[in-house]
Amino acid sequence: MSFLGLLVRNRLAFAGLVVMLVIVVLALVTPLLPLADPDVTDTANRFKRPFAASVILGTDHLGRDLLSRLLWGVRLSLAVGFASALIAAAIGAAIGIIAGFYGGRTDNVIMRGVDMLMAFPYILLALAIVASLGPGLINALIAVAAVNIPFFARNIRGVTVSIAHTEFVDAARLSGMGDARIILTEILPNVVPVIVIAMSTTVGWMILETAGLSFLGLGSQPPQADLGSMLGEARSALITNPHTSIVPGAMILVIVMSINLLGDGVRDALDPRLRSGALSRPMPSTLVRREEPVPAKETSALLALSGLKTQFHSNGRIHKAVGGVDLYVRPGECVGVVGESGSGKSVTALSVMGLVASPPGVITAGAAHFSGQDLIGANYETLRRLRGDRVAYIFQDPLTALHPLYTVGAQLVEAIRVHHAMPRAKAREHAVELLESVRIPNAEERLDGYPHELSGGMRQRVGIAMALANDPELIIADEPTTSLDVTVQAQILSLLSELQRERGLAIIFITHDFGVVAQLCNRVAVMYAGRIVEEGPTDAILNAPAHPYTARLMACVPELGRGRHRLAAIPGLPPVLDGLPEGCAFAERCHKAKEACRTGEIALTANAVQRAVRCIDPEFRTADAAR
Ligand code: ADP
Ligand code: MG
Repeated sequence: MSFLGLLVRNRLAFAGLVVMLVIVVLALVTPLLPLADPDVTDTANRFKRPFAASVILGTDHLGRDLLSRLLWGVRLSLAVGFASALIAAAIGAAIGIIAGFYGGRTDNVIMRGVDMLMAFPYILLALAIVASLGPGLINALIAVAAVNIPFFARNIRGVTVSIAHTEFVDAARLSGMGDARIILTEILPNVVPVIVIAMSTTVGWMILETAGLSFLGLGSQPPQADLGSMLGEARSALITNPHTSIVPGAMILVIVMSINLLGDGVRDALDPRLRSGALSRPMPSTLVRREEPVPAKETSALLALSGLKTQFHSNGRIHKAVGGVDLYVRPGECVGVVGESGSGKSVTALSVMGLVASPPGVITAGAAHFSGQDLIGANYETLRRLRGDRVAYIFQDPLTALHPLYTVGAQLVEAIRVHHAMPRAKAREHAVELLESVRIPNAEERLDGYPHELSGGMRQRVGIAMALANDPELIIADEPTTSLDVTVQAQILSLLSELQRERGLAIIFITHDFGVVAQLCNRVAVMYAGRIVEEGPTDAILNAPAHPYTARLMACVPELGRGRHRLAAIPGLPPVLDGLPEGCAFAERCHKAKEACRTGEIALTANAVQRAVRCIDPEFRTADAAR
């Protein structure tokens, strides 16, 4: 959705926008309106009440028309407020970008100067600046801009520092760009949204500050009116003729309120995370809204999912990410879950332990029995005790799964001590053993290193070590090797399969790579559009895939040593999850699709010994398989 669309949907921000537009238009057309001269005094008509005779808002202590003074005053106040915000943003951003980009001594010198400015109380500093420059509106503008520069400089410096070391800036440097060009073309476009957000939230404040200085007689000088000076002049008549204060006071309130509402709206619309509710605190476990508990289908299994449905409810839309998954894993078994990106593998895995973020995630049906206990709808304390202790996760991206600010050791020790009370030293010993068990060289030393000091493969091994910390019975590994190169991937796979054999660990291994499945998994389940379309022993499925989707998926895997042959990409795209078609979700892309594929529910039917497929016209029949 466009920026404006988002802004308009936020009702408060929209109200702010409308009020602000009206005020700005009024301020712009003020010279054209048939108003009395704002500065002409008429002492015979002092303190006229509003709506008396020809004056709409009354007159002030010198008989000047308040409406005219108000509009001219708004014009001035807005101009000064926006000008000082622009100046502060421009200078502050320049300072921040230079400090953040060059870092080191430049950064230190500049930021300490900024700190010094920040050490003075705000308004006192502004007063001191105006006092030394002399009263006057321009000087007030300079003072307000100056005291706000540190705010912008600090904000922008922080953002710049985080951008200055990213790969695209390195790439720009490698392509021979100079510093000035990098700042203008690479850094600036990325900090502009931050500048806009900072401005939109401070303009209101700057208008108030300017009004404050004028109120004290240091800003606009008589007879020139701005909102602050109008308030200041009305002060002596506050009790006897309150309308003289109320008129400019109410106007300041309206302006600042509408700017702030608009500013908040702008910030929310510019930051996609705020929009999708990242700031609303997620619940400790996924929301469950199911009709009734479901009995376990596979009672001998360590973990058995039965008819699990997980949806995302946002903006009135329902995305059926997981639409009824049955999956089980026995102790010591490795089950592969394969499917294209977006087929619901991760959401299935996260649903088991209630780790899908709610909102927007909701589990609407099904059960997940772990050792006979249903985890869907289990209370938080139960889940918390199991998470990381008996059921552990390994995530795809090890860098984001590890906390960047703690040493590897601290994180391992914490993972151990959350579930097992033991002295720190003992936990540390255990951590060394864990790192050794995942083949990290000089484990003792590595314990005191930070995640960024490790290579990708090592980080992933730390992730595995952390998953192993409490000797779990089940590890759910969500594409743990996807971001690694093949040699490291092979090491990690053999490590996992060794652990599976030695410790009798059950593993659910999520991947989109059939090669990995072949190496590691006993059984495999193929997922498409949130459902399992085929399931069975790895060898059987790899040798003779029954579902057309599985067959096409395997045809996409290049084989080494088979010479060149055309890779058969699957045409079309996976269906959208908020409007799944009736019948088979794969029908649109299937070369065998016929009328019957597009109607009714297609069940996952047992096809041969231990095999099941969700297709009415599978690649081979039970009879063929039996042969
Ligand atoms: P994958 O099989 O690649 O792991 P996922 O399970 O992560 O796929 O995602 C399944 C579907 O759920 C995707 O279409 C994704 O867009 C959707 N989805 C995942 N997380 C969220 C979320 N927080 N909000 C809305 N939709 C989501
Ligand atoms: Mg995923």
